[in-house]
Amino acid sequence: MASTTDIGLEQDSAQPASSRDYARYRIIPARHPWRIVGTVVAAFVILVSLHSTFTNPRWGWDVFAKFFFSQPVLVGLGRTLLLTLLASVLGFLIGGLLAFARVSKSPLLSSLSWAYIWLLRSIPLIVLLLVLNNLGYLYESVNLGVPFTNILFAQFKTVDILSPFSVAVIGLSLNQAAFSAEIIRGGILSVDQGQHEAAAALGLSRRRQALNIVLPQAMRAILPSGFNEIIGLAKATSIVYVLALPELFYTVQVIYKRNLEVIPLLMVATVWYLIIMIILSLVQAVVERHYARGTRRETPSNIIDLALAYLRPAAPRPSVVSAAPIRAAKAPARPSVAPRTDIVRGRVGHVEIHAVSKSFGSNKVLDTVTLDIRPGEVTAILGPSGAGKSTLLRTINHLERADAGVVTIDGELIGYERQGNALQELKEPAIRLRRASVGMVFQNFNLFPHLTALENIIEAPVAVQGVPRDEAIAQARDLLARVGLAEKADAYPRHLSGGQQQRVAIARALALKPKVLLFDEPTSALDPELVGEVLDVIKELATSGTTMIIVTHEVGFAREVADKVVFMEAGRVLEVGAPAQVFNAPNHPRTAEFLAKVL
Ligand code: ADP
Ligand code: MG
Repeated sequence: MASTTDIGLEQDSAQPASSRDYARYRIIPARHPWRIVGTVVAAFVILVSLHSTFTNPRWGWDVFAKFFFSQPVLVGLGRTLLLTLLASVLGFLIGGLLAFARVSKSPLLSSLSWAYIWLLRSIPLIVLLLVLNNLGYLYESVNLGVPFTNILFAQFKTVDILSPFSVAVIGLSLNQAAFSAEIIRGGILSVDQGQHEAAAALGLSRRRQALNIVLPQAMRAILPSGFNEIIGLAKATSIVYVLALPELFYTVQVIYKRNLEVIPLLMVATVWYLIIMIILSLVQAVVERHYARGTRRETPSNIIDLALAYLRPAAPRPSVVSAAPIRAAKAPARPSVAPRTDIVRGRVGHVEIHAVSKSFGSNKVLDTVTLDIRPGEVTAILGPSGAGKSTLLRTINHLERADAGVVTIDGELIGYERQGNALQELKEPAIRLRRASVGMVFQNFNLFPHLTALENIIEAPVAVQGVPRDEAIAQARDLLARVGLAEKADAYPRHLSGGQQQRVAIARALALKPKVLLFDEPTSALDPELVGEVLDVIKELATSGTTMIIVTHEVGFAREVADKVVFMEAGRVLEVGAPAQVFNAPNHPRTAEFLAKVL
C-alpha cells in the first residue's frame, strides 16, 4: 500500500545530486484522501444494504428460494424471453423497412411511413394490445384472396388465429417497429454524405451500399439506443398481463395472490429481470465492439469491456509486409500492377463533354461547358470556389445528372442510351457498370472507416467486377506498394495520416482499372507537409497513360504535370490551353486576376 516514508529520500539527499542513479529511489504514489473517504462511504452503503436485505425476515428469502426455480416461474420466464426475442427481431425488421421508406424519394411511401410511426408512437401500448385482442369484433374473419374481387383462397375466424400470445407478439412488434424505425433512420442520417458518394462512385449496387457501407457505420449510432429499446421491451412485456398471458410477471402475480407472499415473489421476478439485463448488456458490449472496428484507439474502460478483452484479445492483426514501401515519385512505375493492356497513351479514356448545363434551382452551376479531353491527357481545372468544378466532375461519372448536354467516354454515353433521336436514361445497374471505368478521388478521401485499407481497396473489384477475393487482395497489395503503403494494409483509415488516407483512396480508385481518373481537390484537406506525398503519387500516375482530370489549386503542380489547363468561373469555361500559355500569358482578364491571387 501507500504507507511509504520519506526516510529513503532524506538519507539520499546527503548524497551528491550528480549521481544520476534515480533507479535507487522508490516511487511514492500520491495520496488521495477523498478517494479513501469515498471508498469507505461506498463500503458502508453496501454493508447496510446487504445487512438489511438479509437480516429482515420479511424479505422472505426462504419463499424466494422455493419459487425462484419453480416450474411455473420458469415457464413464465421462457414466455417473457420469447416475447422479447420475437418482438425485437420483428420490430427491427419492420422498423428497418419503415426507416428506408421514410428516407425514400417517393413522397407517398415516405408519408405512409411517417403516418405509421406517428400513429403507433401515439397509441399507448396497453390500448393497442386491447384493440388487437378485440379485433374479432371488428373483423369476424380473415380472408386470403385477391382484393376487390370475389376470389378467395382461404378464410379463418379471427378469434381462432389471434391467441393471446400472437396478439402480444403482434402488438409488441408493431409498437417496437415505430420506435426502431426512428432509431435506424437516425443511424442512416448519421453516416456522412461523402460515404454514399464514394460508394456510388465505386459503382457498388444500391443493396451493397446500404448493407456493407452505410448500415455498418449507422450501427454505431443505432446500437446504444437500439439495445435501450430491447431492454425496455423485456420489461414492457410485463404489460401483456392484460391479456391474461402468463409471462413472468403475470405468473408471480398468480402465485402471490394465492399464498399472499407478495414481496418474495416480486423479488423472484425482479432478480430474473436483473439477470436478463446483465445478459443483454453483455450481448450489447460484444455487438458494439464488433461495429466499433476502426474507430477506437483507447483501451477498454469498463468492467464488461475488460472482461471481453480478456476472453478474446482483440490484438491488431499482424500486418504482412509484402514489399518494401517505395516513394512513388522516386521509384519508377513498378510492373507489379498488371497494366491494362489497352492503356497505352493515346488509346482509351477519351472524354468528351458536349455543351453540358446544370442548374440548382435558379443557380446555373454549369453553363454549356464543352471540353475535349484526349486519351492519356492530364487536365488541370482551376477556378474560384463555386465555379462548378466539383459539379462538372460529378457529371462526368453521372453522380449528378446534367439538365442538358451529354458526356461520352470513348464514344460511349455516360448515363444514357441512344434510342433513335432520343436519349434514354439508363437504369442504376447499367450506370454503375459504366461508372466503374471512371475512378474518383475526393477532397475528404471518403475512405470507408469501418474497413481496413486493404478492404477499402478490394470492395469494388470483388463486389462490382466479380474479381476473386484472393486475386483482388494480391492486386490491392501491389497497389498499396505502388503508393508507398505496403505495410499499412491492415490499418483502419482513422489510424492513418491524411496523406496516407488519400494515397489509399487513390489506390482504391485504381483498383477498378479505370480509363479515367477524376481528382477533386485531392490535396486541399491536407497539411502542407503532406501535400507533396500525394502529388508525387499523382505525378507517377500521370506517366502511366491514364486520362486524368484534376481540380486543384496547386499551380506549380499543374504547370509541371498537366498537358492542358482549364480555367472555370461561374459555370463557364473561360480559358483552355497549355500550362505555359495559360499561366504565362492568359487570354482572359479573369484568369490573370485569379492567378495573381493564387500564385
Ligand atoms: P466548386 O467545386 O467549383 O467550388 P461546386 O461545383 O461545388 O463548385 O458548386 C458550384 C455551385 O453549385 C455552388 O454555388 C454551389 O453552392 C452549388 N451547388 C453544388 N451542389 C449543389 C446542390 N446539390 N444543390 C444546390 N446547389 C449546389
Ligand atoms: Mg469543389
